[in-house]
Amino acid sequence: MTVSGSAPRVRFAPSPTGYLHVGGARTALYNWLFARGSGGTMILRSDDTDEARNTDEYAKDIVDSMRWLGLDWDEGIEVGGSHGSYRQSDRLDRYGEVADQLVAEGKAYESFVTKDELDTFHAMARSLGVSPAYDGGAEPDEFGVAARRLAGVAPTIRFRIPRPGETTFDDIVRGGVTFDHAQVDDFVILRSDRTPTYHLASTVDDVDYRITHVVRGEDLLASTPKHILLTQAMGGEVPRYAHLSLLMGPDGKKLSKRHGHTSIAAYRDEGYLSGAVVNYLALLGWNPGEDDTTVSLDEMVERFQLDSVSRNPAIFDAEKLAWLNGLYIRELDTTAFTERITPIVEADLERSLTEDERATLQAIAPLIQERTKLLPDAAGQVRFLFADVAYDEPSWEKVMTGTDAFRVLEAAHKRLDGVTDWRSEEIEAELRAMLGDLELGASKGFQPVRVAVSGSTVSPPLFESVEALGRERTLARLAAAKARLDAE
Ligand code: GLU
Repeated sequence: MTVSGSAPRVRFAPSPTGYLHVGGARTALYNWLFARGSGGTMILRSDDTDEARNTDEYAKDIVDSMRWLGLDWDEGIEVGGSHGSYRQSDRLDRYGEVADQLVAEGKAYESFVTKDELDTFHAMARSLGVSPAYDGGAEPDEFGVAARRLAGVAPTIRFRIPRPGETTFDDIVRGGVTFDHAQVDDFVILRSDRTPTYHLASTVDDVDYRITHVVRGEDLLASTPKHILLTQAMGGEVPRYAHLSLLMGPDGKKLSKRHGHTSIAAYRDEGYLSGAVVNYLALLGWNPGEDDTTVSLDEMVERFQLDSVSRNPAIFDAEKLAWLNGLYIRELDTTAFTERITPIVEADLERSLTEDERATLQAIAPLIQERTKLLPDAAGQVRFLFADVAYDEPSWEKVMTGTDAFRVLEAAHKRLDGVTDWRSEEIEAELRAMLGDLELGASKGFQPVRVAVSGSTVSPPLFESVEALGRERTLARLAAAKARLDAE
């Protein structure tokens, strides 16, 4: 049976040695879009052979982050499938078996060369101006091998690169790529403790799982000739490869923490909407082709073409992502927005909202929504409605120390006390009339009221805030601010 001609089978193969990174998530997304758009199969495999660096926490984070982004998989860890556990750590015997088979066929060999001997080999090759790639030329002779075995040295297994020769492939993103075998070492496939290297484990899995397209980061491009040669040596069918360009920060340097969060979990924890994150990831190397700023996963599936992915480095700009997130927040309907911020507001208050308070939140929500880039920002904006007012001291300093503040608070109290129909329009009319009485501009006249009721110069629009706060509490807060000014 051959893999070509059948529906695509792709895999995302993270190592659980770190949180799911935005670059990894983009790789996962492109694999997923390609699979979903072509009636293919998406596989999630765990490349967990590095026992020292794997953690359960990272493994869980990867799965959780994939699910949060809305990326599912048809075979793989947690969901199963016809190829076993999809964890490399469960398949060590299989990798050993393939390595032994390759040795038996003369395509790989037991290697006893030491690190020092290898260094000498490379140095000599350089000084002689010949190919520096290791070709087995520093292996001990028969007696040397026997002596090392006697001394208890276990060999590694190296793949024998056919020489001379070259490996060429047509990368879906990068076009034609050729590697001269003179540049490729006979590489280790099995370590002396019989654990597989990445090259062996990854290739055996790709062959066994009948992967048709390997879509992964460009950092693995130089590994690809090794994987192709191994695949051929195993008698497998070589998949198509697509190497995605690396992510850069806006300064053109390799993406790092300096450029903002790099893990998906950090964006989730900060209250980003998954739709915005996945939308932004999609744009890192692919252009959906129409002018829409936001593109849903379904629309992406319809439009995505692996061969239209750009080979140029993609710029990850955390500020653009924040901007896009704001756009997604504004696109939520009020009820959905209120539902999302309710738990955030409750966590901030450390209590549940009452029925009435929920109604207040829902009423003020559209005004909050407009000015929210990140959902958790909402908590601070509405805290004054559900907790005692806490004055932001710089705000107080700024607007309450002038000579007019006291007059304003007094006049506002009087005017609002007379309002019978507690709606923002009435409240606005009274407060504007107050400006006239006092001959003050809006800033001087309204800011003390704002600080008195909300605690800060930055609050949702004033009249609606006052309406939402309610009559009794508004009057009490104006009185309390006045009292504080009196005491100062
Ligand atoms: N496990 C590898 C990594 O996390 C990726 C393997 C592959 O896609 O071939 O870098």
